Amino acid sequence: MTELLFRDDAYLKTATARVVAAHDGVVTLDRTIFYPLGGGQPGDTGFIVRDNGERIAIADTRKGAEPGTVAHVLAPGATQPEAGETVGLEIDWKRRYALMRLHTALHVMSCVVIAPVTGGNIAPDKARLDFDIDIALLDADRIADGTNALIARGVATETVWITDEELDARPELVKTMSVQPPRGAGRIRLLRIPGIDLQPCGGTHVANIAEIGGIQVTRIRNEGKRNKRVEIVLRD
Ligand SMILES: [Zn+2]
Repeated sequence: MTELLFRDDAYLKTATARVVAAHDGVVTLDRTIFYPLGGGQPGDTGFIVRDNGERIAIADTRKGAEPGTVAHVLAPGATQPEAGETVGLEIDWKRRYALMRLHTALHVMSCVVIAPVTGGNIAPDKARLDFDIDIALLDADRIADGTNALIARGVATETVWITDEELDARPELVKTMSVQPPRGAGRIRLLRIPGIDLQPCGGTHVANIAEIGGIQVTRIRNEGKRNKRVEIVLRD
């Protein structure tokens, strides 16, 4: 198991860790600040820093083949660290923080567009949600204004854990039809934005929605019968 440091503190930019294994360009660590691809949020990039100062580029982060582990994918041609080695970790914070702001913005927007969410994706420069809704009901200015009005409340986000049984008793919490929360671990992580949103999510979020600043809706597009896509960017 890899200890997921970003779960308790999404703002960790550096940490130290021990290399558990390194082969075929993939490094497993005993703990990590690198978020692995999942829930529409891309995996982190950054560096493993050796004692001698050598910087080994991490091109991507994925869930590992072993349950509960994280695979740090080395850039092509990068040196492989040794198992047992203690190393420094550095994530590309500028990229990750943009992902955190956009990710949290999608939570807020999902409370402005009242429809089932059929898909979603986050990139460092833009993010989108797909809704099962009549496209005529989607108005870019109204969505942006509604989302920005909620962001302006400036409330702190909270992480809440519930049991599988509690979630089963409250199916309305699961808005994203295409991404069912992982079950079987006994407990499920929720993001709560008090007065705005509460839904299962394992991603990384900003501590206060004021950090999002504001959003613009750049595009509304028909991507299929049940997928009306709303794409956003950060306003600054
Ligand atoms: Zn989330």
